[in-house]
Amino acid sequence: MDEFEIIRRYFKPGKKSASVIVGVGDDGAVLRPDPERDFISVVDTMVESIHFPANMHAEDIGFRAVAVNVSDIAAMGGRPRWMTLALTMKEADPAWIEDFARGIHLAGDRFGVELVGGDTTRGGEIVISVQVMGDVRPGQAMTRSGARPGDGIYVSGTPGDAALGLSIMQSGQVLDDRLKYLVRRFTRPDARVELGQEIADVASAAIDLSDGLFTDLEKLLGASAVSGCIELNRIPMSQELRSTIQGEDAIRFVLGGGDDYELCFTAAVDEIDELAGVPVTRIGNVGEGRGLTCTLDGITYDYHDDGYRHFR
Ligand code: ADP
Ligand code: MG
Repeated sequence: MDEFEIIRRYFKPGKKSASVIVGVGDDGAVLRPDPERDFISVVDTMVESIHFPANMHAEDIGFRAVAVNVSDIAAMGGRPRWMTLALTMKEADPAWIEDFARGIHLAGDRFGVELVGGDTTRGGEIVISVQVMGDVRPGQAMTRSGARPGDGIYVSGTPGDAALGLSIMQSGQVLDDRLKYLVRRFTRPDARVELGQEIADVASAAIDLSDGLFTDLEKLLGASAVSGCIELNRIPMSQELRSTIQGEDAIRFVLGGGDDYELCFTAAVDEIDELAGVPVTRIGNVGEGRGLTCTLDGITYDYHDDGYRHFR
């Protein structure tokens, strides 16, 4: 099967929406963005063995490649609309490509993103680049840089699950329902698109959690030139995580584990506990100065960040 057959068979969508003037099949995609909205573009690359285990189910790889990009759009308060896919593979294994493409289309349907183009090449390992384009009300995009002293620090969902799920998956152990839940939090991230759009009005700054709560919150605080303090007892942990690991181990996964694709944001409001059907928890406060500190039961907790870095 050559690449033209692969594209025709697996990546050519049946119908196009009105915003897609030219889709898959020509030299480029021609899109008609909404002139009333600001345009957002994000891209993320996933490399075999670095971003996902080589033996991960191809449908999950496809789904995840879309979801992690949609999450960046969500963190800006945007609406995802179109995507392109650059796919590099060692060989054209029809069973693998079919599963992978199903994952791409499942995520496309789930998040309302239309595949409008891409590139298909052979290479030494699997590399997947997805670009997602979307839009947001003019001037309403959330950035990392608007947090102000006095704001609350909020997080959605239960951080730490995905990193724990990845380590469970890599251990090769037999999965009961509890472990399956955790693994699925890694393989099928639920990008918080509706939540992102709802908080756009109240949040002063936002970021999505890809590298770990501590590292990502540090980025937000740094971009805003403020400090932050979070109370570890306030960070919500899933029942599945708590019954698998406890104490320092749990703290390490919750603060340092990546791949959650939850949203972390700051807002000058007292309490929010749920928005768009997603649990949201206030875990700390923004202050003057710089840096992120943690407390456990009100006592300073010395945490050394080991968030993921590609280059050190
Ligand atoms: P060109 O040589 O002009 O770059 P290609 O032969 O690479 O065109 O691609 C043909 C068409 O198929 C283009 O519209 C391209 O966007 C699309 N395409 C290629 N690979 C993919 C893919 N993996 N997913 C979606 N569309 C793809
Ligand atoms: Mg061309």
